[in-house]
Amino acid sequence: MEKRICENCRIEINENDKYCNNCKFPITGDEKEKNIFYAQQTIQKEKIIKAFKKIKIARVIIFSLSILFILPALTNSNLFGINTLIHRFFLGLLFLGFGLYSLIKQKPAFLILLILSVVFYFFILYINDFKGTFESFSQVIIILFVSYGYIIAIITDKIFKRNKYLFDNLIKNNQEDRIKL
Ligand SMILES: [Zn+2]
Repeated sequence: MEKRICENCRIEINENDKYCNNCKFPITGDEKEKNIFYAQQTIQKEKIIKAFKKIKIARVIIFSLSILFILPALTNSNLFGINTLIHRFFLGLLFLGFGLYSLIKQKPAFLILLILSVVFYFFILYINDFKGTFESFSQVIIILFVSYGYIIAIITDKIFKRNKYLFDNLIKNNQEDRIKL
């Protein structure tokens, strides 16, 4: 059987294929169909770049939180008691670790951080006899930030998976600074 090459992604295609298996290019389509394909690709590419930016912001939030946790412990701040400082210090290290992990796998990393934040919230309530304190209040804000990150991770993950070919291509060529992880 004669082998042909997809004119969009240059991968080998079978003679009878109507669409490229790799990039979904309409091989047997007319000019109009091909132009629609290229237009859609441009739109999807912009979507992916926007998603990259959003996930970057979510990661910056996670790293900022880890610094917020770790710094008071290092500077011996009196804002929290010594026990809380130790707890926060370790939580900060966990945030740092999972922030780095989110560079590889974003969805599970944000989910684990969200669970950790909620568990820590109940831990704070527990050690304060379930009375609302400044700490428990600040922990609610942290949960909100991490939830935001998790929602962003879910949305961007969908966009990346739906456009796997474009996504891989952008990563591989690393053409634009805007998509650097
Ligand atoms: Zn193709």
